[in-house]
Amino acid sequence: MKDIYAYSVQDFEDYLGNLNMKKFRAKQLYAWLYQKRVDTIDAMSDLAKDLREHLTDDFNLSELKLRTKQESADGTVKFLFELEDKHLIETVLMNNDYGKSVCVTSQVGCAMGCKFCASGLLKKKRSLTTGEMVKQIMYVQKYLDEVDDRVRNIVIMGIGEPFDNYDNIIKFMNIVNSDLGLAIGARRITVSTCGLVPKIIEFADGQYQYNLAISLHAPNDELRSKIMPINKVYPLKELLAALDYYSQKSNRRITLEYILLAGENDTPECARQLAELVKGRNAYINLIPYNSVDEADFKSSSDKNSLRFYDMLMKLNVKATLRAKHGDDIEAACGQLRAQAER
Ligand code: SAH
Repeated sequence: MKDIYAYSVQDFEDYLGNLNMKKFRAKQLYAWLYQKRVDTIDAMSDLAKDLREHLTDDFNLSELKLRTKQESADGTVKFLFELEDKHLIETVLMNNDYGKSVCVTSQVGCAMGCKFCASGLLKKKRSLTTGEMVKQIMYVQKYLDEVDDRVRNIVIMGIGEPFDNYDNIIKFMNIVNSDLGLAIGARRITVSTCGLVPKIIEFADGQYQYNLAISLHAPNDELRSKIMPINKVYPLKELLAALDYYSQKSNRRITLEYILLAGENDTPECARQLAELVKGRNAYINLIPYNSVDEADFKSSSDKNSLRFYDMLMKLNVKATLRAKHGDDIEAACGQLRAQAER
């Protein structure tokens, strides 16, 4: 049995071609799956009976299995899913002024080992399949169908390092972006990486319209290597060169994510270094409040120091936003619900 949600329109066309059937059926099939969002092949009533029989024999249409769901006062909903091999993953639905956003998990655990992150502490078990990522979106979309709403934005910022699962995340983005399916605009889809330089270059060469975000979190190698081991493999000089290459190829603005860790990276000196780093680049800084993690020794910057940092960037003419916390009361930071369930 194949996972139907891992198929692009092209894949379905090839499948139909092999059966000597009309290729335009692929578009109808896609509309049933992603626009009408049916749960069974039998519901695809305008497909010929023999095609439906083939599909039933070959494809699995199952949804993700929900273990628990937590709702926050600010409208954030966190879903904990159990995969077929019993691994647990999280998907988060956030309520933004520009519409509903979904934070997607790309791996079970993570191999990057960032010191402040709950996911890294659990190590990587495996990468998710394309279908498992598409099904996170489909589950949330069907949940939103109940209230006549839709997924507007996708961020691949859940558990895992997306660029360590490169082919599957590209295919995932292409599927949810397809005009014939959910049609979520490329500019409303963001992939975030801790800085796997060869993949950033590959992504640049792919000329995609998806947004790229980089987890920077520190403006110098000493500090970055201390909190993000990947920096020892791809230090800032190489990372920035890859970003410049991406900018040149794509002409798109890059988001640099920067979580504010009390006494670590929130000093005025860090703000100055950060401004220096951003200068002349087509990038802006997204300052993110840190959600504390039980096993990690870091604390979130105080409101006062976060504002001081933000103000300094403003004075130094750096484009920055200070992101509000989402779902603070339900442990919505990466991997925390899963970390708890695993314990
Ligand atoms: N591995 C990818 C994507 C997943 S993490 C990456 O590193 O970008 C998404 C973002 O959340 C990253 O910027 C990550 O550093 C940040 N993050 C991790 N743990 C966090 C925490 N406890 N509080 C706030 N942000 C966190």
